[in-house]
Amino acid sequence: MWKNVGYYNGEMGPLEEMKVSMGDRALYFGDGIYEATCVANRIPFAIDDHLDRMYNSLRLLEIPFKMEREQVKAELQKVIDAAEDNPVHFLYWQITRGNSMRNHVFPQGVEPSLMIFVKPHTMKSMDVPYKLISLEDNRFKLCNIKTLNLIPSVLANQRAAEAGCDEAVLHRGSRVTECAHSNISILKDGVLRTAPTDELILPGITRKHLLALAREHGIPVVEEPFSMVELMNADEAIVTSSSALCMRVESIDRIPVGGKDPRRIKLLQDAYLEKFRRETTSVG
Ligand code: PLP
Repeated sequence: MWKNVGYYNGEMGPLEEMKVSMGDRALYFGDGIYEATCVANRIPFAIDDHLDRMYNSLRLLEIPFKMEREQVKAELQKVIDAAEDNPVHFLYWQITRGNSMRNHVFPQGVEPSLMIFVKPHTMKSMDVPYKLISLEDNRFKLCNIKTLNLIPSVLANQRAAEAGCDEAVLHRGSRVTECAHSNISILKDGVLRTAPTDELILPGITRKHLLALAREHGIPVVEEPFSMVELMNADEAIVTSSSALCMRVESIDRIPVGGKDPRRIKLLQDAYLEKFRRETTSVG
């Protein structure tokens, strides 16, 4: 058992001692995809949704990863089971086009690489709202693929941290797309509105569950883009991600936002937490 567990192409050990190959295309091109979710009671939350998105990202990047879903689950579970006890863990895995001499063109006859890590995680309290900054979205247009090319998001989150904020909300012109590593939705006049899943946003798993829970609780859902002005005037703004679940927004660029529909946002947060707890509790 280790506190932080690392895995690379079948080898496992303490994360701090693991090494990756110098030929791994992630190092030169970010040529790969990744997934992440929280784990409680050694059960990864919404694993099938994450594996669906993983296979879709691999297909879109034409990475010939042959491992079957059940085998991927088994490898992830090995790493989870090697971690020291903690109420919640963070599970991350990435698949790259494999190891070869640097060359932009796809290498032939090379096996993709699988890297996994698990570390202890503390979930943020949903009672402490997020502060955001806003930035122009300068990412390329393959945002629907969960690729390792994350420089614009890294820079955006650094700007947010420097401003004492939790996340950066991104917009292309007036249209809000998503946050640097989360999706964003608004509540206005009792309706939950969120950007559609086109190539400008990542189809977030938390976003998907939030929409389903809203519908279950009689909150109408509209998948249409909204503007920065609409975001600033929303009754509530909600930031969603696998690591933090559903966070209420209290300010953007230091201007107070939301706080006008506390009942619906609490209902959604409670429903989400309840779903997380139920699906990460072993039965029998
Ligand atoms: N959007 C971006 C750009 C992200 O990187 C992430 C998560 O990493 C999300 C949205 C949220 O997705 P999920 O809810 O599947 O974690």
